[in-house]
Formats: sequence, structure tokens, C-alpha cells
Amino acid sequence: MQRLRPGPVVAVGTIAFLALLVPLFGLDNPLHMDIAHRLAQPTLAHPLGQDAYGRDVLARLLWGARVSLAVASSSSALACLVGTALGLAGGFLRGPVEFLALRGMDVVLCFPPLLLALLVVTLLGPGAPTLIPLLAVLYLPGFVRVVYAGVLSVRTQDYVEAMRSLGAGRLRIMLGTILPNVGGPVLVQFSIAAASAVVLESGLSFLGLGVVPPAPSWGLMIGEARATMMQAPLLLLWPCLALSVTILALNALCDALRDAVDPHGITRRRRHGGLLDRLAPGLLPAPGAALELAGLTIAIDTPSGPIHPVRDVSLRVMPHETLALVGESGSGKSLTGLATMGLLPPIARVAGGAAWIEGRDVLRLDEAALRRLRGATVAMIFQDPLSSLNPVQRIATQIGEAVQAHARSPAKATWRRAVELLRHVGIPDPERRAHNFPHEMSGGMRQRAMIAMAIANQPRLLIADEPTTALDVTIQAQVLELLAALRRESGMALIFITHSLPVVAEIADRVAVMYAGEIVEQGRVAEVFARPLHPYTAALLASVPREDGSLAEAIPGTVPPPYALPPGCAFAPRCRFARADCSSGTLALTEVMAERLTRCRRWSDLA
Ligand code: SF4
Repeated sequence: MQRLRPGPVVAVGTIAFLALLVPLFGLDNPLHMDIAHRLAQPTLAHPLGQDAYGRDVLARLLWGARVSLAVASSSSALACLVGTALGLAGGFLRGPVEFLALRGMDVVLCFPPLLLALLVVTLLGPGAPTLIPLLAVLYLPGFVRVVYAGVLSVRTQDYVEAMRSLGAGRLRIMLGTILPNVGGPVLVQFSIAAASAVVLESGLSFLGLGVVPPAPSWGLMIGEARATMMQAPLLLLWPCLALSVTILALNALCDALRDAVDPHGITRRRRHGGLLDRLAPGLLPAPGAALELAGLTIAIDTPSGPIHPVRDVSLRVMPHETLALVGESGSGKSLTGLATMGLLPPIARVAGGAAWIEGRDVLRLDEAALRRLRGATVAMIFQDPLSSLNPVQRIATQIGEAVQAHARSPAKATWRRAVELLRHVGIPDPERRAHNFPHEMSGGMRQRAMIAMAIANQPRLLIADEPTTALDVTIQAQVLELLAALRRESGMALIFITHSLPVVAEIADRVAVMYAGEIVEQGRVAEVFARPLHPYTAALLASVPREDGSLAEAIPGTVPPPYALPPGCAFAPRCRFARADCSSGTLALTEVMAERLTRCRRWSDLA
């Protein structure tokens, strides 16, 4: 949070100070009547004069501020609290909670405010204890709708998905990740509600539905001054002036608060750089495969039946090993990674296969078990760290959230652990950088911070979904080196999703080439690159820009969408080796040599 602008704080503080400490000022009793001096002009004893009953106007004004501010702040805070909870729950959990929250607010909005006030006051009687819940109910829909709309725009952001991928629970995500992002609009709504509550309390008191006479209230003062406005117009001026100044001060304070909690508007990006530090060993290699996918098939239901963007994907990755999942956009690489984390988008579902991690098929785990697994056993980093990090939380706080998702620890220890992780991933001056917001870091540093979050709980498997695509070549090399060092020293297995073959050559031990939702070739990187056994792999290799400057060969055509797959081999329409029998039957991924698998009928012609 940035520094608050002092002006609005001083203005509201002064009003609140006067209202709170009025009993200490030695003013007249605001209820004491002195009929002999009714409508008396200002004197030293009564600086603002006396009203129609001879009561001291200054005393009634300050005591009235107490009543108005108490009613306004209490009712707004109550509405804010309940409305924020309902909006958060409705927007994040959806389903029946969303229906109840939104339709409930529609019911409240059906009642005209004055009619509702009349009804409630008739039933419960006038006075502050009635006004506070009444005003809270009237302002509730505003808070619910503001928070609900904010949650809908934030809930699918990458940084929310990233928290899910780290195994954070719903409550933690709602309160720790989403709420800070909708805090600004909530504060603005609070300013509107508080200012409006001051006016409405005065209006209801003016109509005899609010504060009960002879208690002081600005609304009552205005009502009483109206009858004598020709003889003593100043009696009308003072409460109106008090109302206007209070409302302006409240609005200015909430604008300042909104600016303070939104770091984008105030802070400026700083330049920095950094080299990879040595990494401390910490993770132990485990026996057996870190991940074994067996026949993974993903379906999306459409009006004309299910389509399958991922089909029969089988692969194994061992501890200490890096497997690259490579292919063009739309080949199903990212969906495969998301399915392994149990993070498929709502439109997609697992239609078959298994994903074994630590002896459990994660595709069949419930959400609670998946949360325990994510972050602790398997973690994921995404392409764009800026959208994957929470923009309104400091880096160390976010890393701390990842730590706390699986192990409770005191706040100071969590912060120290976050700083240690930042140091671990090669961020220079980590104590200072820990206080940075994501927009205050470079792309490379943000990606290092994402990696720090991902390894916070020492996962056995890290899935990196195009983590270097948004980075320049130098930073890309540093991040690749960091991931390789982490894998070497921790024993973690790494699945590296990419479309770049040079990156595969740089980082991976084995490669699985995906095309149109299927793995078409798999093997050790050196062997596959030297002698591809599938025409698509050969075409991909030929399309890489060459160092001698000669033109690369583009692959003709595009990847077919999952709803328009050709019969037989999906690559047949683009394959220069295709023959008639390629477009019929089913092609299986077959081991044709030791550790070499291909899905091609003519692999021997390429060998
Ligand atoms: S099966 Fe036929 S069409 Fe498919 S990649 Fe092999 S040669 Fe080409």
C-alpha cells in the first residue's frame, strides 16, 4: 500500500475528532432549552447562536455530527462487510450461492428506499438502532454487485489459476488473492455509501423517521430551521454546511484510499538486472516415475457431440529428467499439462486414461486431494508471469502464500523463507526485491519469482508451460539455465512445454512431439533431432531458422481443429510422404526402436 494523501485524512480526522471529543469541549448541553433567548444571535458563549428553543447551535451541531457519523459509518461498514462476503462467494463459487446472492439483492432493489424506511420505522420505531440495519440493507446491493463484477473479471486471471495450481484452498484464494484486487472499487463504493448514508440519515430525521427529537441531528436541525428560516437563516446554513463538508471529505478520503491500494497508478517501474546464483540442494529424488500418463484423452462437449483436443497421450517422466512437449499452437500441449494438474477449463473434461503421480491417478482425485497435491508434489509455471502474479501483492507475500498453502508458519518465518527462495532463484538483493510489486520487476525477474513460488514446497514434478516465450533471448537463456540447475540439484522432474525446437535442444533429455492432440513421436532429443521417424518432426526441424542464413522450410497448411480431423493420420493432408492407406484406419504410437516411438506408417522410409 502506498502513502495516503494527507489532506483528506486530516479533513475526515478533524471531523471525527470533533465528533468524538465533543463531551470534553465544555459546551452547553445540546438539549438544554433557554426560551428567553430563542433565535439569539451569535455571542461569545454561543458562537453560532441559539435555535428556536434557545439551545446552543454549536453544541447541537457537534453532537449531531456524532450521531450522523456513527449511523453512516456503522451502516456502511455493515453493508460493506456483508455485501463483500456475498459478492465474493457468489462470483467465485457460482451456482446456488451466486443465484441466492444476486436474486436476494434484486428483491431488496424492488422496494423504494423511502417506502422500505417507512415500513421498517413503523414496525421497529425510529432511532439510530433502527436506522443502522435499515441503511445497511439499502446499501447492500451496491456492494454485492461491485464485488461480484470484480470477482468475475479476476477469477480467471492467470495469477488465480497459479494459486490453484499451488494447491491453495478456496477461502485462501478468495481472501488472499481475489479480495485485494477488488478492494479499490469496494472502497469507492464505501465512500459513496457513507456519504449517501449521512444524507439519508439527515433526510429521514428531517421527515421524522430517523433520530428522535430532541436528540441532536443535522437532519432534525435542518427541519427545525426551516420553520424559522426567514428570521434566522444562519440556523439553516450551519447543518447544511456541515453536511456538505463531511460528504466532500469522505469522498476525498476514499479516493485517496483507492489510489493508495492500487500500486499501478503511483509507483514507477525500476530498472534492474541479475545473474543466476548457485542453488542450494534440497530436494531428494524419489524412486519410480515422477509422472506416468497413460492414454490421456480430453473431451469438449459441443451441440454436435464431443470433440477430443487431446487423444491417447502416453508418456513417462522420471526424476532428474526433463521431457519437452513440443508442437504448434493447438496441438494439445497445454491442455495435457493442465489436465495433469487437475486444472482443465470448465468446458473440457477427462474422457479417458490415467495420470499416475506417487501411485495415485490424479485424474480421479477429488478437489481437496488435488489441492494437497498441487504445489506440494506437482507445480506449474505459465508463459506470462505478469498475468500470473497478483498485481496488488508484494512478491514475498505471494511466495509466502504458496508456502502457507501447505505448511503453516509464522508471518516473519514465511517472509524469510520467501526471501530465501528469491535468493535461491538468482534474484539479486532479495531482501529489497521482496517488497516489490510485480510491475516493479523485469520480465525475467518475474519469471524467476514465479519459479520461486512453484518450488516453494519442493515439488517432485514441475510443469513449465512456455515459460520463456515472452522473454528476450538473453533472459530466456538465464531462465533455462535456472530451471536446468534446479532440476539437477533437486532431483525434480521437469516437463517443458514449448513450440521452440532450439529450446528443446537446450534443456530437454527426451522429447514428445504433439500434433493435433496426439503424440506422434517420442525419444531422446539427440536421436530424434538427428534422425526423426515422423514426417511432422522432420518438417518441424526443417522449419527452424538456420544459422547460415539459408531459408527455413515452412510446413504447408495448418493444424486441423479437433472438430475437423481428417480420417486416419491427422498429418496426412500436410505430409509429403502420405499415401492412400494413410487416410484410413487407426494409427497407434508404436515403439519401433529402443526408446523410439512413432505414429507413422512410413517411419522406415525416413529412418
Ligand atoms: S502415416 Fe502417412 S500421412 Fe501420416 S505421417 Fe506417416 S506417412 Fe505421413
